[in-house]
Amino acid sequence: MSRVLVLNCGSSSLKYRLFDVPATGEPLVVATGTVEQIGERVPGAPHDHAEALAAAMSDLPLDGLTAVGHRVVHGGLMFSTPALVDDAVVAAISDLVPLAPLHNPANLAGIEVARALLPGIPQVAVFDTAFHRTLSPAASTYAIDAETAERYGIHRYGFHGTSHAIVSRRTAALLGRPLDEVNTITLHLGNGASACAVEGGRSIATSMGLSPLEGLVMGTRSGDLDPAIIFHLHRVAGMPFAEIDNLLNRRSGLVGLAGVNDMRTLLTRRAAGDRAAALAFDVYCRRIRSYVGAYYAELGRLDAITFTAGVGENAPAVRAAALAGLDRLGIAVDPARNDTPERGARVISPPDAPVAVCVVPTDEEWEIASQTLGVVAGGAA
Ligand code: ADP
Repeated sequence: MSRVLVLNCGSSSLKYRLFDVPATGEPLVVATGTVEQIGERVPGAPHDHAEALAAAMSDLPLDGLTAVGHRVVHGGLMFSTPALVDDAVVAAISDLVPLAPLHNPANLAGIEVARALLPGIPQVAVFDTAFHRTLSPAASTYAIDAETAERYGIHRYGFHGTSHAIVSRRTAALLGRPLDEVNTITLHLGNGASACAVEGGRSIATSMGLSPLEGLVMGTRSGDLDPAIIFHLHRVAGMPFAEIDNLLNRRSGLVGLAGVNDMRTLLTRRAAGDRAAALAFDVYCRRIRSYVGAYYAELGRLDAITFTAGVGENAPAVRAAALAGLDRLGIAVDPARNDTPERGARVISPPDAPVAVCVVPTDEEWEIASQTLGVVAGGAA
């Protein structure tokens, strides 16, 4: 039996989950929790990640701990697999801070604190970008001056890799087919959102790029836009770049269009006739459809489309609207199957449809735990 602690440190939050993993059989979640408002000036809030983690760990049964798995957002070009943390790995994650200025410092704080509090326990970094290191040069290269791109690391890295990995694997299992024979488009629709074309288990295209800003419309991020909008806002509106950064990352997407980033509220307002909510919904779903079309073309043959994460798993209206009108591509959603309150992995396309449309709950924490165990066992994860 192994015991693994998974840590996901954000800039002001800490999520943890503790798993017991028997040699055979299902893993058990022993404890799970979230600490928020870290470093915010709120009464009772922890001052920093060290304090938050120390407090969380004092309640956890950590005897017999095998390893700690850390979610690390940016692994750059360096990490295509999870890495056993040592000083060199810490330095490499630190070198990637310019590419992920919000995420990597928080992830590093979690690693440093866990190393200090749990000396001798192996720590493993699991990267959001790693699954996308299989992208071909044609898929990962931005068409800008090659020397500039090389010098500054301008490259499509892609994110949400642990989710796309586990969800594409579970889709193949749901369909009862070997992973290497199944081509899937995975749609991770949470607060952040990304699409991925997975060919036989390998990522060949993904919608997030240098940063998590590109691609689908998200809760607070714009996703794709004409880069000239940034110059226009700078020149004509006189906005400093930091403000434009904030606008596109925190005040755009659903919140920018309709004033709300929670899809549940958006759907309620849309049903009540709110026009801004209806437009936001249409822009959101249309963008998903565009990516489905593009990735179908990239894959050539498509076996499955899988929805996952908060919106993907829970919003039938989004699933139906995003794939509406694609019948001639073999893509259809069965209304009764789509609307069931069922929670597990399931197929929602009509029986015998050429493309299986699926809903598969993601489990990034478990994916991190199992990759961590793979590293500790010395095998490929
Ligand atoms: P995160 O990216 O923060 O991990 P999640 O995957 O948990 O996010 O997704 C969060 C989003 O899921 C919420 O903002 C909300 O819009 C959406 N969501 C959760 N439950 C529902 C639901 N029942 N119907 C529609 N949307 C939902």
